[in-house]
Amino acid sequence: MRTAALDSALVHRFDEKTQQLSDAIAAYADERLKLDPVPLDGPATPEELQELVGQTITREGLGGLSALELFAEKLAPNCLSIDHPRYLSFIPCAPTREAAMFDLVVGASALYAGSWLEGSGAVYAENQALRWIADLVGLPAEAGGQFVQGGTIGNLSALVAARESAREKSTGRPYRVAATYGSHSSIATACKVMDAELVKVPLDNWQLTGENLRKVLQDNDPDTFFAVVATAGTTNFGIIDDIASVAEVCEEYGIWLHVDGAYGGAGLAAPSIRSKYAGIERCNSFIVDPHKWLFAPFDCCALIYRDPVQGRAAHTQHATYLDVLTDSAEWNPSDFSIGLTRRARGLPFWFSLAVNGTDKYTEAIEHTLDIARFANAEITERPYLELVREGSLTVVVFRRLGWTAQDYQRWSDDLLKREIGFVVPTSHEGETLARFAIVNPLTSEDDITEILDTMA
Ligand SMILES: *Cc1c(COP(=O)(O)O)cnc(C)c1O
Repeated sequence: MRTAALDSALVHRFDEKTQQLSDAIAAYADERLKLDPVPLDGPATPEELQELVGQTITREGLGGLSALELFAEKLAPNCLSIDHPRYLSFIPCAPTREAAMFDLVVGASALYAGSWLEGSGAVYAENQALRWIADLVGLPAEAGGQFVQGGTIGNLSALVAARESAREKSTGRPYRVAATYGSHSSIATACKVMDAELVKVPLDNWQLTGENLRKVLQDNDPDTFFAVVATAGTTNFGIIDDIASVAEVCEEYGIWLHVDGAYGGAGLAAPSIRSKYAGIERCNSFIVDPHKWLFAPFDCCALIYRDPVQGRAAHTQHATYLDVLTDSAEWNPSDFSIGLTRRARGLPFWFSLAVNGTDKYTEAIEHTLDIARFANAEITERPYLELVREGSLTVVVFRRLGWTAQDYQRWSDDLLKREIGFVVPTSHEGETLARFAIVNPLTSEDDITEILDTMA
C-alpha cells in the first residue's frame, strides 16, 4: 500500500488555508517593517502573561490565524523593540530593512549551511560577506571562518582553536588566557568552559598594552599561555586596546592573538576612527557581531581565522556518516566552530550588503559616531551631568551629579514605563552611572536631548 505522504495533516500541501495564513504572515511582516516609529513596548510579569495569554499549546491546535493574532496582540507588545531609536541599553540591534526582510526568505528556503555540498550557494555568498570584514581587518587572502550565533560562541571557538594550536607546538599543556579587566564576560565564560585560567592584565590608561601584557606573561611563565585577547571596543566603555603593542608581544612569545570586536569591530569601516585599530591586522583570529553595529538581525557573529587550517583542525567533527563531507577539500562552515547544524545566518547580512553597497555602511557607522559626539558635547555642556570618559566609539557613559543608585534606577524605570526610552544604568568601580550605546542610525540628536532633559 502506498503511504499517503502528501496528505499529512502536519506537513501538508500548500492549500487554500495555507495561502490565507501565508498572506496574513506576509502582511504582518510588511506592517512591522513599515512601522515608523516602532512602539518601544516592554516586559510583563509571568503572572500578567498567564492572565493575558493563558495556555497556547493544545491537542487540537489554535489554527493559523488565531495563533498569529495571539502573537501580534498579546505576545509581541510584551517584547521590547530592540530597533527603537531610543533603545540605548546594552548593545541594541538595528537591522536594515533589507536584512530583516531577507531573514524571511532564509526561513522559507530550507537551507542547510553547514557544508558546501548542501549549501554551496549560500556559503559562497556568506563567504563574500566574511571577506569584506577580513579586508577591513587587513587579513590575508586565505583567511576565513563562518557566521556563528554570537560573540560568546565566536570567542569560545577562537580560543579552542588557539589552545589546539598551542598544544601542537609545545610539549606542555598551556592553560592560560590573558585579557584585560575590560574584556567581555564571555571571555571568562569561555575560560570556564575550557577549564582554562583567565589572567587579567592591569589597565594602562583604560587599555591593554604590550608593556603590561609582557609583565604579566613574565610573572606567570609565558609558556603556560595559549592566547591573549585584545578587545576592539569594550562593551561598557567602547575602549580599543593598544593592539599594535599587544601584537608585538604576542609575536615575541609566539602566543595566539584573538581580537574581540563583537561590538566595536564595525568601526573598522569608519575612516574617522580607523587608526584606533592599528595593529589589528596581526591577529590570529577576530570576531565581530553584525547583529550589533553592522545592522543585521539576530543572531550573527563573523568569526574569522588568519589561518583557517587551524580553525578546521580544532573543530571538524569526525563521524562515519560525515565522511563524505570531512574527506572533501570543500569549504564546510561547520568545520570552524562548535556546532554542526547551522542556519545560513550570514545571508540577511550578505543580502543587505549586496543591495546597499559597503559605502552606505560606512556612512551609517559614521553617522552613529556623530550622534555619540553630539551626546558627549551635550553632556559636557549641562551642569548637572558629567562625562566619565571621552572618545569611546558610540558608547557614552556619564554621571548625573548628586544621584544615588536608586535615583538612576527610578529614572530608568520611569523612562521605560512612559515609553520614552530604554536606558538602563551601568556601573564602574562600584559607582552607578548612566550609559548610552548608540548603534541605530535612526537615533537622532533630538532623541538624545529629550532623554538628557529628563535628568535635569
Ligand atoms: C556583545 C559582546 C560579546 C558577546 O556577544 P554575544 O553576541 O552577545 O554572544 C563579546 N564581546 C564583546 C566585546 C561584546 O560586546
